[in-house]
Amino acid sequence: MTISRADCVALDAADPLKHFRDEFVLPEGTIYLVGNSLGAPPKAASAALARVVEEEWAGRLVGGWNTAGWFDLPETTGDRVAPLIGAGPGQVVVGESTSIAIVKAVSAALNLRPGRRVIISDLANFPTDRYMVQGLVKALGDYEIRDVNGTDGLDEALGDGADGDVACVLLSEVDYRTGDRHDTAGVTARVQAAGALMIWDLCHSAGAYQVDMSPADFAVGCTYKYLNGGPGSPAFIYVHPRHQNATEHLLTGWHGHAAPFAFEPGYRPADGIRRFTVSTPHVLSFAALNASLDIWERVDLSVLRAKSVALTSLFIDLAEELCAPYGLTLASSRDPERRGSQVSFTHPDGYPVMRALIDRGVHGDFRAPDILRFGFAPLYIRFADVYDAAVTLAEVLEKEHWREERYRQRLTVT
Ligand SMILES: *Cc1c(COP(=O)(O)O)cnc(C)c1O
Repeated sequence: MTISRADCVALDAADPLKHFRDEFVLPEGTIYLVGNSLGAPPKAASAALARVVEEEWAGRLVGGWNTAGWFDLPETTGDRVAPLIGAGPGQVVVGESTSIAIVKAVSAALNLRPGRRVIISDLANFPTDRYMVQGLVKALGDYEIRDVNGTDGLDEALGDGADGDVACVLLSEVDYRTGDRHDTAGVTARVQAAGALMIWDLCHSAGAYQVDMSPADFAVGCTYKYLNGGPGSPAFIYVHPRHQNATEHLLTGWHGHAAPFAFEPGYRPADGIRRFTVSTPHVLSFAALNASLDIWERVDLSVLRAKSVALTSLFIDLAEELCAPYGLTLASSRDPERRGSQVSFTHPDGYPVMRALIDRGVHGDFRAPDILRFGFAPLYIRFADVYDAAVTLAEVLEKEHWREERYRQRLTVT
């Protein structure tokens, strides 16, 4: 084989990120390759939640809004997410979910391009990104969605430069199925050259590697995948400083008001990034997220990326070597530059294969119609885990464990 298990153990011993694994709760005997869907909990999350409940909520009651920094959590937490996506202070706020952040970003972009009536949407994007735009168009009327497939046909869809009709483009940097990554700088430049605004969804990017959103107009993303903020942890939105006071978004809630405690009858937007907050922050969820950001503050993202590339490349090599005869086909790019921190394969019986694999302690997930996804969170996945996962996958395929009837029944969440 390409590499032995002992080699992998040696790679782990030399891994500059190895100490981070001790900061996460990971069940014994589980290889957790689903950190791209729900990150593992930081050990510090329980104590952080308990502290907010006991000291802040129980100890200060409603006074917590003033004395425990609750009111400012969207901005203070946004400033902690900002360095991970190449943004500066005052450019990111955290709150609500990614779906809601998409409505904010797209509606704010449309306001900046009056006269342009087209939104470009990607057929390969995560469905909620498409559904939210469809709902927005239905509500606003008089807008049109132009579908592209990834960046194929993007230039034609953008049309003729300054005379174009496209207001904004919404793409995900990393394809949730294949794990492939767009060239964000190149695409952003093409979109802006056509007079349109670029909105990136970073759900599968933030915490996977260093992102640079400084040229982009808007970006959104969740914090419960690679950022380990916990189930349902709040999303972030980045707004380029040149747009913040130049536009308004659709969700004009009281927390984005210039004077929320003046209780005025009419909406007036706050200045700056605060304008992009909507409503009461989910204080308990912020506690868990901030416990994770305490870890992220100490991570060198270039070291993280190097390990991520090494893990995903190793998994591709081993899985192809061991599983090639059994109908497994690589769906991700072979070029590590074009990959996120995820590897996907297709298999005609992908669903039962994944169920059988999970039963043997290797947790990936399945995306219809035939994709097996494996996420590699470099803070807690080891080279030996990659080795064991590939060997177990080969065993499931070779011995056809997946043919057992019980693996065919679909669970609600795949
Ligand atoms: C995970 C994910 C979402 C999730 O949206 P929610 O509003 O948090 O449910 C949205 N878009 C993409 C691209 C995702 O990967």
